[in-house]
Amino acid sequence: MSAIGKVSGSGASRPAIIINEQDRHFAAEVERLSGANLSWCYQCRTCANGCPFVRAMDYPPNSVIRLIQLGLRQRALECHTIWICVACHTCSSQCPMVIDIAAIMDALRRLALEEGAMIAEANILDFHREVLHSIKNYGRAHKLGIMLRYKARVRQWFADLDVGLRMLAKRKLDLKASRVNALSEITRLFIPHWKRK
Ligand code: SF4
Ligand code: SF4
Repeated sequence: MSAIGKVSGSGASRPAIIINEQDRHFAAEVERLSGANLSWCYQCRTCANGCPFVRAMDYPPNSVIRLIQLGLRQRALECHTIWICVACHTCSSQCPMVIDIAAIMDALRRLALEEGAMIAEANILDFHREVLHSIKNYGRAHKLGIMLRYKARVRQWFADLDVGLRMLAKRKLDLKASRVNALSEITRLFIPHWKRK
């Protein structure tokens, strides 16, 4: 086992990448799922510099690409980064090699769920479920409803209460959920394609 260096970014110290069990098929698998070509990445870090959440990540997006290239499957699937990523596509739109990093994060989340990998962020799946519940019922994300249902699910009523109150005071949270007109077109997306008429 050998360390190949300390990963650093945004001033924070990050875990060193250790080469242990390499999965030589991992990169090809992620490429197939995401449609991205990982070999085009030349580690310019533009994706990391533009990511609004990089400070909360254990690996910046460019290092996640490197983990995949090195075949470090478990490390990539169990990192915090893939769950902190909010799929805003800033990185994908700024990458000079047109690599869709957001799609890569999606592919990693999918593989992590399929393989039962350890989910690094506590309660993140509950949050995702509540976002999907809102979209299925209203065709859009009703933030207040998502927050209340999420808090009831994880029983953490007072965590981030100050943030919620500030958002309410600034009228960033709609009290009442409103439905989009063509809701049936949204709910159709939740039906498996083989059952759609
Ligand atoms: S911006 Fe693109 S080329 Fe640069 S490090 Fe990120 S993925 Fe690689
Ligand atoms: S899609 Fe994810 S990794 Fe890319 S900039 Fe947005 S939060 Fe960061």
